[in-house]
Amino acid sequence: MRLESPVTQIPLIGPSYQKLLDKLEIKTIGDLLYHFPYRYNDFSRQATTASLIAGEVATVTGKIASIKNIYTHSGKNFVQATLEDASGEILLVWFNQPFITRILHPGDLVTVSGILGSFGSKPALISPEYELSPETGETIHVGRLVPIYSETAGLSSKWLRSRINTVLKNNTGFPETLPKKILATENYPARESALEQIHFPKTLQEADRARKRFAFEELFDLSLKGLLRKRRWQQEQSSNKLRIKQPMVDKFITSLPFQLTGAQKRLITEITSDLEQSKPMNRLLEGDVGSGKTVVAAIAAYVTALNNLQTLYMAPTEILAKQHFETFKLMFSKYEINIELVTGSQKNDRRQRPFASLSTNSKDEKRTFASLSTNSRDENCNKSIFIGTHALLYHSDFKEVGLVIIDEQHRFGVEQRAELLKKCSGGLVPHLLTISATPIPRSLQLILLGDLDLSVIDEMPVGRKPVKTWVVPKNKRANAYEWLKKLKTQAFIVCPFIEESEVETLVAVRAAKKEFSSLQVLLAPLKLGLLHGKLKPAEKDNIVESFRQGKIDVLVSTPVVEVGVDIPRASVMIVEGAERFGLASLHQLRGRVGRAGQQAYCLLFTTSETGNVSRLKALENNYDGADLAEIDLKYRGGGDIFGTMQHGLSAFKVADPGDTKLVKKARDWAAKVIASPEKYPEIKSKTDKINLELVEPN
Ligand code: ADP
Ligand code: MG
Repeated sequence: MRLESPVTQIPLIGPSYQKLLDKLEIKTIGDLLYHFPYRYNDFSRQATTASLIAGEVATVTGKIASIKNIYTHSGKNFVQATLEDASGEILLVWFNQPFITRILHPGDLVTVSGILGSFGSKPALISPEYELSPETGETIHVGRLVPIYSETAGLSSKWLRSRINTVLKNNTGFPETLPKKILATENYPARESALEQIHFPKTLQEADRARKRFAFEELFDLSLKGLLRKRRWQQEQSSNKLRIKQPMVDKFITSLPFQLTGAQKRLITEITSDLEQSKPMNRLLEGDVGSGKTVVAAIAAYVTALNNLQTLYMAPTEILAKQHFETFKLMFSKYEINIELVTGSQKNDRRQRPFASLSTNSKDEKRTFASLSTNSRDENCNKSIFIGTHALLYHSDFKEVGLVIIDEQHRFGVEQRAELLKKCSGGLVPHLLTISATPIPRSLQLILLGDLDLSVIDEMPVGRKPVKTWVVPKNKRANAYEWLKKLKTQAFIVCPFIEESEVETLVAVRAAKKEFSSLQVLLAPLKLGLLHGKLKPAEKDNIVESFRQGKIDVLVSTPVVEVGVDIPRASVMIVEGAERFGLASLHQLRGRVGRAGQQAYCLLFTTSETGNVSRLKALENNYDGADLAEIDLKYRGGGDIFGTMQHGLSAFKVADPGDTKLVKKARDWAAKVIASPEKYPEIKSKTDKINLELVEPN
C-alpha cells in the first residue's frame, strides 16, 4: 500500500465510505494515517472477573457463557451476557445494540473494557467496549490505550481505528522523511514507528514523543518552504532597480501636515533600500491600526513614480480604496502624478483625468514641476498610481508597473497576489509591498512569513492616547448606554460574530439588523446608522460619509466591515459578544477610535456568562498588538487566533503554534539544512516537492 494511493485500496472501503472519508478530508491512505487521534481511552488495566472494583475502568478477558437480547414491555432493548474466567463470572449489559448478539456468541473468547457498575442489584459492566480476542492476541479496541478520533456521521472511531490498523499491519515500508541527523539529535522516533505509536501507543509518553516528531516535522516543512520561497524570489526574478531621488523624497516628507514618527522614517529607509535593488522587494509592512502605514506606502509609490513607473495599490474593499484614493489625491495634489481609482462600480465612470489636480501655485511646486517637465509626455503617463479593489485584476491599462501594494494583504488569496504581479510587463517583476494591521505573534513570524521581510511600525503618532478599555459585564450594560448618550461623541458598535467566516452571510446581516433596531430604542435620541456587507457600494458610501460628517452619532456594523475606516473624531468603540473575537482583532477595532488625539474608550460587552473574560482583561492594560496575539495563542491555540489570519494558521494540523520552543527548534533546523543541504541528503525529496509546489502556473 502506498501512501499516495486512494483510500479505496484499503480492504472494506468502497465508494460510500470514500464519500464519508471525504468529509474528513481523507482522500489517500496517507491522509488516513495522518488523521491522528486527539485523545486515548486508557483501558490498559487488566483484571479478572473477581478482582473488578466498582467505579473503576478495567479490562477482562474471558469466555461468553451466555448471551441474549431482551425486550421490555415498554419497547426497550438490551443485550445481557455473562463472561466467565478462571476466577468467576461477570454480567455484561448493552442498551439498544441488539446487533451485538450477531457478533458475540456463547463460547467466544472476548476481551471487554469498561467501568464496573450495577444492573438491578447485580454488579455488571455496563456497555463495555468489546473485541473478539484476535489470534495474534493483540487487541486494538480494548485492553490498551485506545485512540479516539474526530468522527463524522457514519464513521466511528472504532471503524477508523480498524482501518488504520489494517493499513499499519499491511504496510510495506513508509519512507523516512526527516534526516537521520535530526532524528538522532532530537531523539525522535522514525516515521514508521511514529505512525504506529501515535495510533497504538504502549504508553502515553510514547504517543507524546511520536506526536512531537510530527509536530516538529510540520513546523520544519513550513520553515523550509518559507526559506525556499524566499530564495526563489530573490534568485530567479529581477525587478526594476529604482533610483531614489532623495531630495525630492525629503521635500515630500516636509510638505506633510505632520512629522513622521521615528518608526515611519525607519521603514521608509528599509523600503527605499529594497527598491534600489534589482531583486524584487517582498516586504510586509505591519503596524497597529492608526500607526500611519498609508503615508509610508505613499512614499514608496512616489519613489516609483519618480522613476516613471506605475504603482498598483489594491485594497480589500471599495470603502478603503476610495479612502486611499482621496488621501492620495490630497497628498499628491501639488505633484505631477496621476491618481486613478479602479473599482467594480467605477468601470463606467469617467476616470480621473491625468494631472487633473496639478497646480503650480507656489515656488516649491514650480520647482518640483520643473524638474519633472523634462520628461517626455509618454513617460509622464507612467507616473500613475492606480488605487482600487480586486477590480485592478481585470484592468488592462497598465504600462510599466514598478510597485504593487496590497493593503490588508491577508484578505487576498495567494492567487490574486500572483495575478496582480503578472500585470507587470517586460519580464520584470514589480516590487511588492504588503500591508497588514494584523499582528503576528513574534514566535510565529518566521514560520508564517518565511519568504517576506518584515517591517513593523511600533510607534504611534505623537499625541495618541491609549484607548481606555473595559470589559463590561452584562449587568452594567444599561449604564454603559446611558454613559454613551451623555458623552456626546461618535461611536462604533460592532455586532458579534455569528459565523466564523470572512464572507458575510445573510444570517449575520439579519442579526445585525435585529441588533440595530433594539439599539435604536436603547440609544434614542442618538442617531444610528447600520453598515453591513450586503449593502450596495453607494449605500455604504452614504453611511460612512454621513458618519464622517457627524450626521450619524453611532455606526452599527457587522464584524467583517472595513477595519481601516478612518473617522478621526470617533472616540468610542463598543464590541458586542467580545468573547468571540481574538484579542488582536479587538485591538485592531479599538485602533479605529481616538485618532484625532482625543481620549477614546473601548467597551467590550460579553454575552455569555462563561465567556472567557480573563482573556479579554488582557486588553485593559496591554497595548502591544504582537503581545496580545501571543496571549491569544496561549488561550485559544492556533486554530483560531483570529479570523483574519485563517489563511496562515490553517497550516497547522499537528503542531501547536503556541509551542514557541518547538517552533524555534524547527526554524533553526530548517536554516541549518538549507545552508548545507549536502549534509542532509534525505531532505532532497522534501525540497523537490516544495519546489514543485512553488512553481506558479503561468
Ligand atoms: P493605518 O496604519 O491604520 O493605515 P493611516 O495611515 O490611515 O493608519 O493613518 C491614520 C491617521 O494618522 C491618518 O489620519 C494619518 O493622516 C495620520 N498620521 C499618519 N502618520 C502620522 C504622524 N506621523 N503624525 C500624526 N498623524 C499621522
Ligand atoms: Mg490602513
